[in-house]
Amino acid sequence: MSVSGSKSMAFERGRELGCETIQVFIRNVRGWLSKPLDQKDIDEFLKTKEEFKREIWPIISHNSYLINLASIDKEKLEKSYTAMLDELNKATQLGIEYEIMHPGVIPISDKKEISKDEAFLQIATQLNKLMEETNGSKVKILLETTAGQGKGLGNKFHHFETIISKINDKSRIGICFDTAHSFAAGYDFTTKKKYNEMWDHFDSTIGLKYLCAFHLNDTEKELGSRVDRHTHIGQGKIGKEPFGFLLNDERFRDLPGIIETPKGKDLKEDKMNLKTLRSLIK
Ligand SMILES: [Zn+2]
Repeated sequence: MSVSGSKSMAFERGRELGCETIQVFIRNVRGWLSKPLDQKDIDEFLKTKEEFKREIWPIISHNSYLINLASIDKEKLEKSYTAMLDELNKATQLGIEYEIMHPGVIPISDKKEISKDEAFLQIATQLNKLMEETNGSKVKILLETTAGQGKGLGNKFHHFETIISKINDKSRIGICFDTAHSFAAGYDFTTKKKYNEMWDHFDSTIGLKYLCAFHLNDTEKELGSRVDRHTHIGQGKIGKEPFGFLLNDERFRDLPGIIETPKGKDLKEDKMNLKTLRSLIK
């Protein structure tokens, strides 16, 4: 949800769509620098959040796309760490429940490349440091499942199991399952049988207790294509029906679902996608 105007405007926009949860960006997502929040904005956001609590909860923040905790470039890693710390501090100030991040990308460089295991260890070490530095914060970090484009990590469930096993405070870590990404990563959940098998696999590798949120997106790209291209619900390769499996799954009843489908300036497309999703609820 856009925060243009003011951060608390996102709640009004959410209400217009009948949202029960919203995702926002709380800092510049395409740049490293971000001004501190001013107290007036924080107070206004917290007041609005409290007013909307019964209608719209939890609130999710998505981190900057530049952040890469798997970077081997010292300067890039430091920038990533500092930006992520800023995200977490701001999310804490705003009383936001979840901060979503992609696990990381192994950088392609002419220098020596690190292995996946080294990357997982580095990500976990960085996350542990971040959690220590934000000790006392209630913000939970959600690692998002990815399509695995290029050298992107997070396209296999066992990647998350490896990272989580190295996290000291497991009460502050969770998973956001993105339908478009995981489908592109090769996870097929388009029939009830395959859907059940996938969640059994998720449960036996990561554990369903870590699942905290969904990104509900259809995708233009084929199963296993490893390309990330979101599209409107029911108009892509996943199709409408599998979203119905998710929406009617008792286990996920209380988990928030966010659409990240293409949108214009007004809320027309969001209305359409939410209508499609709601029509699937039995
Ligand atoms: Zn997503």
